[in-house]
Formats: sequence, C-alpha cells, structure tokens
Amino acid sequence: MWQRIREAWRQAKEQSALKYDAQPATVTPEDAAAFLQEVLTTFPYTDEAKHWLSTAIGFEVADLSSTRGGGYWYPDQNKVFLFTAQYEAAIHELAHAWWHYRRIGQEDALIDATIALSKETDPRYARLQSLAYGYIHGIPAQNWAGMLVDRNDWEMYASMASGMMADLRLIPPYVRGFYDGMYRLLPDDAPSPAQLAPHN
Ligand SMILES: [Zn+2]
Repeated sequence: MWQRIREAWRQAKEQSALKYDAQPATVTPEDAAAFLQEVLTTFPYTDEAKHWLSTAIGFEVADLSSTRGGGYWYPDQNKVFLFTAQYEAAIHELAHAWWHYRRIGQEDALIDATIALSKETDPRYARLQSLAYGYIHGIPAQNWAGMLVDRNDWEMYASMASGMMADLRLIPPYVRGFYDGMYRLLPDDAPSPAQLAPHN
C-alpha cells in the first residue's frame, strides 16, 4: 500500500514540478487558512490540536496549485511555511510546531522510543520500524548519518508524524503517547486517511 502511495506522490510531484516555476505566489491568508482546515479535517487531528494549530501559530503557503512538497517551521517567527499544498509536508511542519512547545523534558524519552521502534518486530509497525531504523543508524548508501548522532529529537518527531501520515495505528503504543494529544487513534477497521485524501 505504501509503495503505491509513495509512487503516486512522486508522480504528482514530478507533474507539478513542471508547472511550478511558472506559478506566481498568490496565496491569500484566507486560502492558506482554508488549506490548513482541509489538512486538520482530512487527517485525524484532535479537537485540541485543531484549535491550537489554527490559533497559536502562523501558517503560510506559497503555491496551492502544486503538491511538490517542502516547507519550514520557523520557531523565531512562530510560523509554518509550506511551498505547496502537499499533505505530507503540512503534517511534518505542523508536527514540528506542536513538538516545539511540548518537547522540553521529553527529548530523551522520544529518542529512546524511536530507538525501540527501530528494533520493533511486530509486522503491524514494519513501515515505521524501517523509517526509525534509518533515523537511528543513518543510511550509508545515501551518505546520511541519521538523527541520533546529534540527538535530533525534533526531526525524529516530525519525521515519524509524516511517515505515518498522522495515523497512530502505524506506531506501537510506546510511541503513540508522544502524539496522542495531536492525533486521534482511529478504529482498527477505519480506512487510511492518506488513502481517502483528495490528493497526495
Ligand atoms: Zn523536519
């Protein structure tokens, strides 16, 4: 399933990349806010997170006609900035903002949980286990040392958030605790929000 979604993302990104450079950045604050609400309702954010992410931080998008991806969380400006309307990037940057204000005192626990996930053997969590393994051990073939070398809890947190596309069923309970204020745990038989989303 994830292979297929990944492939669809890649194709969407490639198609949008062709027209991206020709698009002026004309996203109004109202349109950016509407896209934020689309993200917060398409994916299982808690009511608390919907409220906080809509009111406590800034949210800007450069180009809503593309889903190529990319973005930043600017702590000094208290603002999420997205290049495009890609859900994966939105989930990732919003997770940075959420964790920024909640991580103090939990950094080591999150890192320990990510290490445990990298060793997880339960097949239900295989996709996130594989991602966590890369965060902890790096990917030598890509010349990437991973996130443990500089104890980068903030990137582990946001990367797991977008890696599971806000679906807590894809991570084991000892990791869920860090996210359960932000996301709702869906019933076992509920469809994947990423699969139901209007685009990728
Ligand atoms: Zn990040």
